[in-house]
Amino acid sequence: MTGPAAAAIDWAALTDAAQEVMRRAYAPYSDFPVGVAGLADDGRVVVGCNVENASYGLGLCAECGMVSALHATGGGRLVAVACVDGAGQSLLPCGRCRQLLWEHGGADLLVLTAAGARPMAELLPAAFSREDLER
Ligand code: ZN
Repeated sequence: MTGPAAAAIDWAALTDAAQEVMRRAYAPYSDFPVGVAGLADDGRVVVGCNVENASYGLGLCAECGMVSALHATGGGRLVAVACVDGAGQSLLPCGRCRQLLWEHGGADLLVLTAAGARPMAELLPAAFSREDLER
């Protein structure tokens, strides 16, 4: 499946949704709230915020909540994602979350960066995927 072109995505609306959910993040230890919004292939917008833990290492990135919301509300594939920091600025997903996004959106998933929308194929080159398990 090929996703829509970057120009067809309402990045302002996705960024607004990410900024809104960022304000609900639970980040008392790092004081680094993160919000993320993803457009699913059926037009749904799913969101997530980071959730920290007193044991630090158990903290959940915003993308974890967003992917859970994707499946909890009907599944499908992500086609576009916007992630923001506490100032509302574009934030790149961490390495673990790039793998998570690859699983649920693949190489064509568009991620908004400070330099514009970039496909996952650029953000996670030579990715490990389910095809590697099926060889
Ligand atoms: Zn992450």
